[in-house]
Amino acid sequence: MKKNCSLQSKHTFQLAAKADYFFEYINTNALQVLINQHPWNKLPKRVLGGGSNTIFINNFHGLIIQPNNQGIQCIRQTPEYVDLLVQAATNWDDCVAYCVSKGYSGIENLSAIPGTVGAAPVQNIGAYGAQLSDVFVYLDTINLKTGEIKRFNSKQCHFNYRDSLFKYNQEYVITAVCLRLKRQFQPNCNYQDLSNYLVDTKQLTLTMMRQAIIDIRQSKLPDPSQLPNSGSFFKNPVVNAAHHKQLLIQFPLLPAYPIKKEFKVPAAWLIEQCGLKGYQDSGIGIDKTHALVLINYDNGSAEALLKTIRHIQQKVYNQFSIQLETEIELV
Ligand code: NAP
Repeated sequence: MKKNCSLQSKHTFQLAAKADYFFEYINTNALQVLINQHPWNKLPKRVLGGGSNTIFINNFHGLIIQPNNQGIQCIRQTPEYVDLLVQAATNWDDCVAYCVSKGYSGIENLSAIPGTVGAAPVQNIGAYGAQLSDVFVYLDTINLKTGEIKRFNSKQCHFNYRDSLFKYNQEYVITAVCLRLKRQFQPNCNYQDLSNYLVDTKQLTLTMMRQAIIDIRQSKLPDPSQLPNSGSFFKNPVVNAAHHKQLLIQFPLLPAYPIKKEFKVPAAWLIEQCGLKGYQDSGIGIDKTHALVLINYDNGSAEALLKTIRHIQQKVYNQFSIQLETEIELV
């Protein structure tokens, strides 16, 4: 147990913040014991994974819990698929690399997403037409109030676009996730960047697919270890058909992707159209290459970040009547 612990290096946006208490565990029994003990049972608690989707804009007066249990275990196999039980603190991309090396397909399009396996279901991570819920079987949790162990199946997790029950309910720590991967590779190359990259590729393999995703991401997204950032900052907004039609009259080049009767619009495009790519103020800025990524260029403050968020939201709203929402959780 650490007291008065700096959180700056524990989240990838690296704002200066502290937690009253910080507890890292490998063995889930240790966590269960702690939860039921005085004074820890009375404190507000929060779980932290790799810190790539959380930004601490305030000090945290309570206990931060960080899982450190790692490992991948095959618990069931058939000729068609394998079920892997992956411990929560396993690095997500290490899990993808493992699956690709074994010839297991289903998460290769999610290569190079930062963070841990335990954090992946929280926002139902997605990229290049794939999302975690496509391969999800169940997850195991410990209740932070009672110490009870509970298993959630896919339906109980309420998965949605970059969304799940665990985004709003902080009652549980996810301890392990079970994924079902196919033994046969079924490439998913619908996204234009990917199909362009693979246009001359013959006999696409799982390894080639993973490498393509890594190359594309590296060419577009800044590395958090070089430039502190949290990946995609805003959700892609969804507008109704009438709003979409009206926007197209004014902005004929507006990209949009149908979702049922509505349209998903790339937030990056909206921000770029407002002339904000490369914008900087008080140490916080928008990446010069990808308008969806905010960067802590120069030890910026939480106030500077909030000001930048408001500025972006206001500009986008004024131009498109669309309210951008953060994908990142501000704590
Ligand atoms: P992009 O290819 O420039 O496309 C912009 C947006 O349009 C994407 O966010 C994507 O939505 C949507 N889109 C593009 N082609 C689509 C299609 N065929 N069908 C449906 N929607 C489509 O996007 P990008 O910024 O370079 O990102 C590429 C992928 O990586 C995206 O899936 C993105 O979400 C993901 N990504 C994830 C993170 C992260 O931090 N987890 C960071 C950057 C990018 P979707 O976002 O719904 O896919």
